[in-house]
Amino acid sequence: MAKYTGAKCRLCRREGAKLFLKGERCYKAGVCPFEKRPVAPGPHANMRKKVSEYGLQLREKQKTKRIYGVLEGQFRHYYERADRMKGITGENMLSLLERRLDNVIFRMGLAASRSQARQLVTHAHFCVNGKAVDIASYEVKAGDVITVKENRKDNKYFVELKAAPKKNNMPKWVEFDLETLTGKVLALPTREDIDQQIAEHMIVELYSK
Ligand code: SF4
Repeated sequence: MAKYTGAKCRLCRREGAKLFLKGERCYKAGVCPFEKRPVAPGPHANMRKKVSEYGLQLREKQKTKRIYGVLEGQFRHYYERADRMKGITGENMLSLLERRLDNVIFRMGLAASRSQARQLVTHAHFCVNGKAVDIASYEVKAGDVITVKENRKDNKYFVELKAAPKKNNMPKWVEFDLETLTGKVLALPTREDIDQQIAEHMIVELYSK
């Protein structure tokens, strides 16, 4: 799948929020460019202009796409599926995004960012329920067991990870044991499990016009 390859910090400035796209760097004091200069990139950054309701909805959608590293077509597909599901469309959509395998690997603390997690997945390091999966958008289910492939357990990356685990706030719907390099999806994620500031109702309003 195509992906954005431009400067990540620029995206945070564009969206006016820290999107935590660069892993550990995002948490280090004094190095985050958005904290130093929290204005939109470009020559007209300081010009104040009134943003329409549509503009705000659009920005919320762009921000959410960027957080999860998903392009427009796929993002819209998540919305359409969420809309057909029972319950609140915005919350369903976020739950579907959270269930992507790249996000789950990030949430389990195996990568410092979702983009690093995506790279690990596409480099075929993991199995889900014993079967190799290298698709970042693979959707996990409650009860799924995620393991590092047997022949990758001695890979330098995982050896170093065991010695120096990533800083991570593992949500309660997943667990991961670094000793055995095995994790489990304990439940499907709910709205309370998503710590990023997202106004999903604005995205729903945008798409349902
Ligand atoms: Fe965004 Fe700051 Fe992380 Fe760069 S370092 S991706 S600006 S949060």
